[in-house]
Amino acid sequence: MSADQFAAIQHEIRGCTRCVEAGLIPDAHPILFGSPHARMLILGQAPGPTAAERPLPYSGASGKTLQSWLARAGFDNGALHDPKRFYLTSTTKCFPGRSATGKGDRAPSRIEIDFCREHLDVELSWVQPELILPLGKLAIGTMLSSTRRSPLASIVGEIYPAEYAAAGEARVLPLPHPSGVSRWHNAPANQERLALALTKLAALRQAHGW
Ligand code: SF4
Repeated sequence: MSADQFAAIQHEIRGCTRCVEAGLIPDAHPILFGSPHARMLILGQAPGPTAAERPLPYSGASGKTLQSWLARAGFDNGALHDPKRFYLTSTTKCFPGRSATGKGDRAPSRIEIDFCREHLDVELSWVQPELILPLGKLAIGTMLSSTRRSPLASIVGEIYPAEYAAAGEARVLPLPHPSGVSRWHNAPANQERLALALTKLAALRQAHGW
């Protein structure tokens, strides 16, 4: 596949307005980043409210947290936005709006996820990442359907084969969501699970030259 072909696919995704046409969201600003040469893929839940102004994923507070986790796994500064290393996308590519409680963002609905699945499938089959890092329960459950009913603490720190057809032979290393709204990583036991996950990520990075 050529870079031009991949750019055309990304352009097509960025022009998607399917959820707007279905009355699910008021505006569509699909956010994704990376090249088909990325070795790893980071799968978030959905972009945040600043996506329209800052189309680079993880350029805000969540990105700083995520970059600090990557640094703990031995990645250099800027690795997060190095297109040869990470492809950045999410289960739905448009900001879904604030949650009804006003605390954090609304989780994308099943229909939005289903609408956006064809984009994710195309990205996965073109990038063919060796490792997928899903962030948070919704993204983890997308890649690992067997873990949907399991607590996050029992999933983070393990490495799984992907349970998602378009992910092929990729391995999956789940992480919590780096959003400041999440309090999960404040608990000492959960910090240990996160540390274990980052230790395993560091070992994979060294072994594969990521
Ligand atoms: S969330 Fe996905 S399917 Fe919905 S409008 Fe955005 S890009 Fe299209």
